Parts: sequence; structure tokens; C-alpha cells
Amino acid sequence: MKAFDLFRPKDLFQAFSRLELNQHETVLKSGGTDLLIWIKKGLVSPKEVVDLSSIDSLNEIEVKEGEGILIGTNVSLNRIIDHPEMKRRFPALIEACETHSDAVLRNKATLVGNVCSAVPSGDTIPPLLCYEAEAVVQTSCSKRHLPLPRLIIGPRKKSISKTEIVTHLWIPLPKADLSVGAYRRASRRRALDLAQAAVACTLFQHRGERDFRLAVGALSPIPVRVSEGERILNETSNIDEKIADRVADAVLKAIQPITDVRGSREFRFAVTVELVRESLSLCLTRAKTEEGCY
Ligand SMILES: Cc1cc2nc3c(=O)[nH]c(=O)nc-3n(C[C@H](O)[C@H](O)[C@H](O)COP(=O)(O)OP(=O)(O)OC[C@H]3O[C@@H](n4cnc5c(N)ncnc54)[C@H](O)[C@@H]3O)c2cc1C
Repeated sequence: MKAFDLFRPKDLFQAFSRLELNQHETVLKSGGTDLLIWIKKGLVSPKEVVDLSSIDSLNEIEVKEGEGILIGTNVSLNRIIDHPEMKRRFPALIEACETHSDAVLRNKATLVGNVCSAVPSGDTIPPLLCYEAEAVVQTSCSKRHLPLPRLIIGPRKKSISKTEIVTHLWIPLPKADLSVGAYRRASRRRALDLAQAAVACTLFQHRGERDFRLAVGALSPIPVRVSEGERILNETSNIDEKIADRVADAVLKAIQPITDVRGSREFRFAVTVELVRESLSLCLTRAKTEEGCY
């Protein structure tokens, strides 16, 4: 592994100053579970790593009533899983976090790091797309919100510059009487493996109106929403097996799976149909169970 300097800023001001000084030789670290492996493999060779984990202001999950939830870059996946409001509002994201790696790694791996890795198989990205999450991107003198489809622009590629930091994720609170969801993925092993294919399905219900959202991971260069699948679901009152098959067809048309070490293109097409059916059926069952007690 190539040697690098480690800089541990205590606040964002120090972090931005460092990035502005050394921008072309510096990379950011949150939990480091992806970054350190990429450095070991020589996929990235930074001169300096700016480790954000000592910046206390980035440790919080803040609920802004009626508006949204702000999640700091140092928040681990286990803290997301244990947060009561996250559980209640964003069940598909919780299921994706529980699927990620194993209980030990989830103490280190962060939600923001999972998004910023921008890999096609990032488990939390499909549910975050359904929940229309945004990255809060800051420099020393500016702050902007970037929806995830504008942040993640290719495999391991983000649209932000070398002097910008994703300080938080912002997830708007759905205006809904009911919020259910499911995340299903195929992988070679249950733990410590990446997805071969993944589907997130969410359903918000508000005063009788239903809003289905559907997103997939590991099936195209970046995780994507499947708007045609959502249209079919939102225009149908009685969702049966035929409708589920039409939704699965819409998903198959929207993806471009590849053959790689984790699975063949043909396998990915076949398993996607099962994952769509399963996540949709789970979503509907959970809606029935939770109606009336939400
Ligand atoms: C054994 C093992 C199993 C794994 N299993 C899974 C799995 O099941 N599912 C899955 O999705 N992933 C898995 N991963 C990958 C990894 O754990 C996750 O992607 C993790 O969530 C990354 O978070 P992190 O905080 O460790 O990110 P880091 O490694 O710190 O950073 C990841 C990338 O984001 C950039 N970055 C970090 N923070 C910021 C920021 N604030 N602003 C801008 N850029 C930033 C870094 O420069 C780097 O490019 C696994 C990894 C290992 C080693």
C-alpha cells in the first residue's frame, strides 16, 4: 500500500482550508471502509487523506419537524438502523442498511460514504432515490442541495469538485399517513458481499392517495428510478400478479446489467423479475398490516 499523510481536521473550517491548499492530491474519508481498500488496491493513490471523523458537527441525525431529516457525514449505518424516526419514516432504507455488510462493519461504514462511493451496487442508494434524498454539498463559502441523480454521474463518479464536501444527506419527510417499503437484493452470500441485483419499492399513502416509487441497484452504471414501473403501479387500484409482471417488464426495459465476477447478465435479468415481485408483494403486505395502526 502506498504511503499517504493523514490529516484529521477538528472542524469544517480546517477541512476546507486543507482541501483548498492541496486539492489535487487529497481525498476525503468518512468511515474508510471503501477508501482504504481502494488505496490498498491502487485504485486511488492520494498524497493525503482528510479524515472527517473527528468533526463533531457532522455526527448528528437532526429531525426538522414537518420538513426532513438531516444526517451528518459521520453517521454510521448502525446509528441509522437504531434511530426510531428513521425506522418509522424510511423503512426501505432501514432494510437496505440491515442488508449492508455485517453488524461490525456497519459501525464504521457511513450512509454518506455509501452514497459518495457512487458504486452501482451501493445498497442504500436505491431506497434513497425513492425517498428523493439530496446531498448537502459545501465549500468554505457556499452550500447547495444536490439531488442524488445529479450527484452520482457514473460508476465511482460524482459531480462535485475537489474543494467540496458532502457534509450531510437531507431526506424530506413524506407527507403521508402511511409509509411502507421493502428492499430486496440478490448476492452470493448473505453477509459481507455486494449486490448482484437490488430493488427498492416504497409506498406512501395520504388521504386515500397512493404514491409508489421503485428504484434498482447493481443493474446499470448507476442506481436508477424506474418511472414507467411507478406509473403502472400508481395508475392501478388492484395490483395483482399480472400487474406485477408488467412492472417487472418495465424494469427489465430500463436496466443494462453486465456480466462480472458476481454474476452474468442473464442471471441478473432473471433474478430481477423475482426481486421486483418480492419487493412489491412485501410492500403491499406491509401496507395492509400497518393500515389503521400507523
Ligand atoms: C467487507 C466489506 C463488505 C462490504 N459490504 C457492502 C455491502 O454489503 N453493501 C454496500 O453497499 N457496500 C459494502 N461495502 C462497501 C462500503 O462499506 C460502503 O460503501 C460504505 O458505506 C462506505 O462508507 P464509508 O463511510 O466507509 O466511506 P469511505 O470509505 O470513507 O468513503 C467512500 C468514498 O466516498 C468519498 N467520501 C467519503 N466521505 C465523503 C464526503 N463527506 N464528501 C465527499 N466524498 C466523500 C471518499 O473519498 C471515497 O471515495 C463493503 C465493504 C467491505 C470492506
